[in-house]
Amino acid sequence: MTEHVLVINAGSSSLKYSLVDSASGEAAATGLVEQIGEDSSHHVHHGPKGEWNDDQPIANHEAALEAAVRAFETQGPALADVDIVAVGHRVVHGGDRFAAPALIDDELIAAVTELVPLAPLHNPANLEGIKVARRLLPDLPHVAVFDTAFHQTLPPHAYTYAVPYEWQEKYGVRRYGFHGTSHAFVSAEAARLLGRSPDEINVIVLHLGNGCSAAAIRGGQSVDTSMGLTPLEGLVMGTRSGDVDPAIHGLLARVAGRSAEETDYTLNSESGLKGLTGVNDFREISRRRAAGDERAQLAFDIYCRRIKKYIGAYYAVLGTVDAIVFTAGVGQHSAEVRAAAVGGLDAFGIHLDADRNARSETFASTDDSPVAVLVIPTNEEWQIAREALTVVRQS
Ligand code: AMP
Repeated sequence: MTEHVLVINAGSSSLKYSLVDSASGEAAATGLVEQIGEDSSHHVHHGPKGEWNDDQPIANHEAALEAAVRAFETQGPALADVDIVAVGHRVVHGGDRFAAPALIDDELIAAVTELVPLAPLHNPANLEGIKVARRLLPDLPHVAVFDTAFHQTLPPHAYTYAVPYEWQEKYGVRRYGFHGTSHAFVSAEAARLLGRSPDEINVIVLHLGNGCSAAAIRGGQSVDTSMGLTPLEGLVMGTRSGDVDPAIHGLLARVAGRSAEETDYTLNSESGLKGLTGVNDFREISRRRAAGDERAQLAFDIYCRRIKKYIGAYYAVLGTVDAIVFTAGVGQHSAEVRAAAVGGLDAFGIHLDADRNARSETFASTDDSPVAVLVIPTNEEWQIAREALTVVRQS
């Protein structure tokens, strides 16, 4: 029987799960419970019998995980028939304490709880998922896999902000970086596709989903990344502004009487593509742009220019680049974004093949392009499963 890992990603009102074959990465089942705590809860489970939906209200995360366990029983595969070796939990913020995945015990829970001020929206939800899963599945080892861990290799001059140094010492104000599981997965895939060892190539990864981040990866290690203290910094995203002048907070306090919390909320939830156009779905931006909508065109141009600037910056940081990888919803599917982001960079050895790019082929660059442009689907669940398995084998 092949070894499986149950991967759990608990959000504030959602619980996503996936039963992953750790060797092949295939999911024996996946599921999502949304709108937990509301009357409009929705549960979808994809198993061997196909898609199954349920609209019963689900009061809390405990009830959500119980519903997931029931769905495994009725829709398959029955958990008792699968060799589950671990439960892998996605945890957003591991601060500077976790440079690697770790077995969950009371001490780890206390450490992740202490990090809540750095990720007030995410870590409490991740902790809730961990507590509930440990209660319901007490006989399995539980492993925390951190979004920040992959970026713990950043050198001090990449992670330190030019602010009073004591802010870092006292309050943990520094760059942490996120999407680490995805950056780790696709950069390793890039090496495999190039037939090289990860430690001998330099890669720029562009994770362009609802959240977006860039990473400069030298020899398999992250040396710079665009998200910072929180996942707000860097590229333009679905609802997040990315880089702005921090003076915005002061200005809006003076001229609009807005509190820091209000501006924070707007920059996280009402900015980015949504702030510019009213919608955060990139497909809708593409449709409007094709129909001649000027605001959609402006949003597209801002989005792509920011990506191009990060490519230039990370090229300079790395010195030589073997591959530029596009991943996540927009990165994998939008040929127009890839073309705009790397277009005109032939002097950097980046030669896009227009036809291959239009077809979103894995190798979107020409055969003789010194820098390969790759389109690689991310698979964070598989990466979490593999990392959880490594921890369990070591313990
Ligand atoms: P993710 O967070 O990886 O699920 O990515 C979500 C984003 O990908 C949303 O903005 C979607 O609109 C976008 N997306 C998904 N499919 C496509 C597509 N075919 N073309 C352009 N954008 C897409």
